[in-house]
Amino acid sequence: MIYIAYQKFNAKFAKGDEERLDELNKKAEIKIAKYNANNNSFDDVKFITSNDTFDYLPCIAVENSQPVFYWANCTSSDFSANSCSIMKSDFAGNVSTVYSGLNYIYELKVIGNDIYYTAESDCSNENTNDLNLYKNNVQITDNDGIDKQEIPTSLASVNDTLFYTSNSGIYMLDGDTPKLSLENNKIAGNLQLAATDDGIRAVWSQTSDLGTEFYTSELVNGEWSEPVAITDYGKLVSQLSIANYGGKLFGAYNITERKEQDGSIVNGSTDLCVFNTDGFNKFDVTLDTVDESQLNSNGQTKLNVLVENNGTENIKSIDFEITDSLGYSQSVNKTVDIPSGDYDVVELDYVPSTSGETFERRTVTVNATSGDASADTQLEVGNADLSVDDITLEKLGTENVITAQIHNIGTVEAENVNVVFKNGENEVYTSNVDTLLPLQTNIVQFNISDDELTYEEEGGAVITASVTSDSNEVNIGDNNSSVLIEKHIHDWSEWTVETEPTCVDEGKKTRVCNTCTKQEEAVISPTGKHTYSKQVVLPTYDAQGYTIYTCEVCGYNYIGDFTAKLERPAEKPTVKPTEKPTAALTTSTITPNPSPTPNSATTAPKIVAKPKSTSIKKVKAAKKAISVIWKRSAA
Ligand SMILES: [Zn+2]
Ligand SMILES: [Zn+2]
Repeated sequence: MIYIAYQKFNAKFAKGDEERLDELNKKAEIKIAKYNANNNSFDDVKFITSNDTFDYLPCIAVENSQPVFYWANCTSSDFSANSCSIMKSDFAGNVSTVYSGLNYIYELKVIGNDIYYTAESDCSNENTNDLNLYKNNVQITDNDGIDKQEIPTSLASVNDTLFYTSNSGIYMLDGDTPKLSLENNKIAGNLQLAATDDGIRAVWSQTSDLGTEFYTSELVNGEWSEPVAITDYGKLVSQLSIANYGGKLFGAYNITERKEQDGSIVNGSTDLCVFNTDGFNKFDVTLDTVDESQLNSNGQTKLNVLVENNGTENIKSIDFEITDSLGYSQSVNKTVDIPSGDYDVVELDYVPSTSGETFERRTVTVNATSGDASADTQLEVGNADLSVDDITLEKLGTENVITAQIHNIGTVEAENVNVVFKNGENEVYTSNVDTLLPLQTNIVQFNISDDELTYEEEGGAVITASVTSDSNEVNIGDNNSSVLIEKHIHDWSEWTVETEPTCVDEGKKTRVCNTCTKQEEAVISPTGKHTYSKQVVLPTYDAQGYTIYTCEVCGYNYIGDFTAKLERPAEKPTVKPTEKPTAALTTSTITPNPSPTPNSATTAPKIVAKPKSTSIKKVKAAKKAISVIWKRSAA
């Protein structure tokens, strides 16, 4: 016998009713019926409530082989504390109160003689989500949404065991103790359970970044299989109920199509949908990367195909067909063991055709079939594969020679290959190669001095190299080579005098760096100290004596150390001496400085010597001396 119980609003909705929902809630009543299989109709359809309060959450249990109907009743229009009751009725309509004074009841489920419901344990603060599970009016969970986030939602039962979803997965009640059964933090709710031949199958809704989809998993011998999706990715599903009938799982649910328009996601219409399955085969394959270096050496490689089992059945065998866009075709069967929800990588041989020396770029397609499911995947094979590595530094004092290698380990050539060297953010050198053939390696080298580098606060200057190419199909491998340059500080030796300075000429000194052997040169200033030789001129009756000092190095001279005239004997002189000096003075052997510095000689002796490389231009008598004007003549 089949009985049903359902909620019916004993009123008609009209436009604007949304604004007086509490009034409508008063019209919500519980209706029951008995199915008559003889004429495929429901008999004895009747209300078992008739009041001005909110009646909801109807469910049916069996007591003493008779149907018993339970529901929740709320007497408060704003669902205030202690305003709810759990009610019970037999099919005849004898109503009784089971529990009263409860906070608002979210879900109600009766299993055997046990009454389960969820309600807030504390209604004093609306913001505190402290929904808890109660069994026969005894609190089972103690959750505070603020700190525990383990809110029991979406009650479901199978084989007299209660399960519920939470933020961290599906819990089951072991007696009165909640135990996390299936860990899954994406579960949104809508938990439904059905007994299967082997165990229990669960279906629930799960959030993705684009919508909500139904997932299923089977509990066999205490182990949940990996969850697999039943509905397509990007759908928005809700309101699920399932049943296992004749070994097949049936489900009814709402689905809201989601479509992207101009990048935005919009909701389409909502429809009631059904699925029925006794398990299904479904898998996806992905051909990820191919080691093309193998193609260069012997013209064959392995295709690694990722197989993800998204069906409910285990995959034991897959037929693969490998083709490429240049005519290759190969079929192979592989024995595998990929449980529902699991994945594995299957390795396939691939021996592509080559024309001469060059490998042509091509599309490789892998078709896979298992049971009534199939999937395919494609990959472009034939790429340039560039990397820059082996960056080295040769340091010559403050000069740095930086070398790096660019490789193309791919199967096709790379065009317009640039290697850019950077010191921090600054490009310090760029090398361009028009074409880098497969398996070709180029060496790039440049010089940079310490003074041109920017140094990190700690440590040295970092030079990084990266490679780019104009080719469309190019893999960039190792592209983060770098080298550290320590700034060179010269370790100078003591100065070595190479040329001594003189009184007037500069000298030269050198020093050398003990580390890098760099040599540095510097001048030594002239000493300014002359080396004199003396020439003594004796006094006469008419003139003082004196000494001429002459620098042996540069010829600078001066006169000093004067001595008095000689005393003339007391006899009558025969010749009156002339006051004019004789020209003989100018033929003196004295060689004075060409530019005489003022000295005492100009004050006392009235003698002047003719300098080198000069001629007397004019001599005129002065009062007590003669003055000579020297004229420079070409030597
Ligand atoms: Zn040095
Ligand atoms: Zn000198």
